[in-house]
Amino acid sequence: MDAIIGVNEISIKFAKSNNIPLIIGPYEKQLEDVKHINESINFPSIESILNEIDRVYNFTFNFLTSFVIEEICLEKDINLVSILPFGEGIIVKFSKPRSCIRCITEERKISNYFFLQDKLSETDEDTLFKIVSISMNEKKDFFIHKGRIEETTSSCECRNERKYASYEYGEMINPDCGNGTSGVFPVDDRKLDIKKFSELFKRHNINIILEDDNYINFEAEGRKMFLFENGRLMISDLKDKIAIEYLYRKYVGN
Ligand SMILES: [Zn+2]
Repeated sequence: MDAIIGVNEISIKFAKSNNIPLIIGPYEKQLEDVKHINESINFPSIESILNEIDRVYNFTFNFLTSFVIEEICLEKDINLVSILPFGEGIIVKFSKPRSCIRCITEERKISNYFFLQDKLSETDEDTLFKIVSISMNEKKDFFIHKGRIEETTSSCECRNERKYASYEYGEMINPDCGNGTSGVFPVDDRKLDIKKFSELFKRHNINIILEDDNYINFEAEGRKMFLFENGRLMISDLKDKIAIEYLYRKYVGN
């Protein structure tokens, strides 16, 4: 069976246009016209959910998460295609032993839905979807840049041993940090380029209330959020852990 990991407007459209029966990942609400496992994405949850799955489309657009998904899929022999913003474009990559996304994108940079959207502005979604399907069916890799599509190849020397699945990464969510605020605290060391996030948010018409070199106070989806340089995100008036994770993945990513 096929499954999508990562819930967002793009992956929901892909699920509908390709009749993918299962979509996995945190979202603000339960999806209705497709089977949706509205759960956190982390190593133990994904490993058990993927037991019955043969093919995975990774639409998380987050790097560290993608590395974890890839480790699990390579171990279980599940065909995996990932879509990630990469350099000036988008990479659509079929993971193979000795050709993994982890090795070609090892910068551990932060990316999210909006970074992908930026790159999509030059390519339409239908083209992206076509390329994703070809990548899965023909086990090929592509780079999409300025509306052009190139087939690419890459190779690596790693033996696809577990790395991210067994190390401390990710975020700790505390739904009650006082005053009705919830917090997401990265457990790994990260440093966000706050300026870059500020520009990103502005490009996507997200309302910035206040900002300086260390944080951005912005308003989105009816909530006030504070994003700090170390990746911490504070969200007003939200207690639901899954919804908190959804917002973190969408606005910050990992
Ligand atoms: Zn590798």
